[in-house]
Amino acid sequence: MATRILETRLEHLSIDNETGKNKKSKIGATSTLHSSSSSQSTLLKVALQNQLQNASAASLRLPAVEAATRSKGLVGTEKSNETSRNEPMSATLVREPAIKIFHLGMFEIGKPLGKGKFGRVYLAREREHKFVCALKVLYKSELQQNRAEIQVRREIEIQSNLRHPNVLKLYGHFHDSKRIFLILEFAGQGELYKHLRKAQRFPERKAAQYIAQMACALRYLHRKHVIHRDIKPENILVGIHGEIKISDFGWSVHAPGNRRKTYCGTLDYLPPEMIKPGSSDNSYDEKVDLWALGVLMYEFLVGEAPFEDSPIMTTRRIVNRDMTIPSYVSAEARDLLKKLLVVDPRGRLPLKKVQQHPWVTKHCQTDMLATGSENP
Ligand code: ATP
Ligand code: MG
Repeated sequence: MATRILETRLEHLSIDNETGKNKKSKIGATSTLHSSSSSQSTLLKVALQNQLQNASAASLRLPAVEAATRSKGLVGTEKSNETSRNEPMSATLVREPAIKIFHLGMFEIGKPLGKGKFGRVYLAREREHKFVCALKVLYKSELQQNRAEIQVRREIEIQSNLRHPNVLKLYGHFHDSKRIFLILEFAGQGELYKHLRKAQRFPERKAAQYIAQMACALRYLHRKHVIHRDIKPENILVGIHGEIKISDFGWSVHAPGNRRKTYCGTLDYLPPEMIKPGSSDNSYDEKVDLWALGVLMYEFLVGEAPFEDSPIMTTRRIVNRDMTIPSYVSAEARDLLKKLLVVDPRGRLPLKKVQQHPWVTKHCQTDMLATGSENP
């Protein structure tokens, strides 16, 4: 089933190759694809070898890679992520220069998956191990023009250290004179945003399953002192089994023990502490993601964000938590929404309690979470 979905997505396409041997590459529509965990772990091994070659072995620890190859469920359990808990993010910061072994010639390029602010994303397959992935191509000149180099660097540094079933993996990166290539996990069912627009709103069962996966992924991120800061349906992808994958770490920060002061993110999802005019220093912490989780849950259930309005009105409504929950939303869902969308960050329900909330547990049997029983 998964292979069939992938096959139908493969069409001819080529990228000029400056560094690899193959001038043009393509994946035929009838190719057999392998996305097995064994080829995945092989690619990870290659990545690991690279990293060890390029960084001081003494300063680099990568237990998270191990955890990724072992974790089987769609929603990571506490146990499967335990190994990566102590991994310092600072390990990534010494991993320069960039991995050299990867180059464009190693990949067959398939159909375009989408276009972002600074580049395009293609379905791709690593030739030797038939490992299917998504290749994001960013033009250096465009990044420079838009002063987005730091954002991309941050995205690479943070995302390449994350290993969780509900967080999109970045396996590696390489570049040529004009472009930067990111080797990403392929999310077979595309953007969650599109599924939501099509469905208008999700049934409570599906929304609860997604919120449970989000809570699990956010707990993992926060344990690693990563604040995402840009949670919204556009930044969530869906895997081939219907499981969600948080992506777009361009706005995320690694902030151990720090309260951040930079203003960023999308208006509808901004928490009061980031916009409140009267607040002392507008500083904030990982609890911004809890507020965004509440906004996301509302959007899943209602089909639009709770404070959607003109920009001025949206900010005004956010700081006053001026929202109306439609009557068709169940009492349990309403209760969780109100516990997440709390103006004072300290009053927001912690992620562990979100996972234990009756609305979540009612709709999420453990086996269902582990197999991703339903498609979006
Ligand atoms: P931004 O530049 O802010 O990240 P974006 O998310 O729209 O904007 P990209 O991340 O470049 O841009 O992705 C463009 C589109 O390509 C996505 O919206 C999605 O539809 C598709 N896409 C990106 N990454 C993957 C992936 N790993 N698997 C499947 N589809 C993907
Ligand atoms: Mg993106």
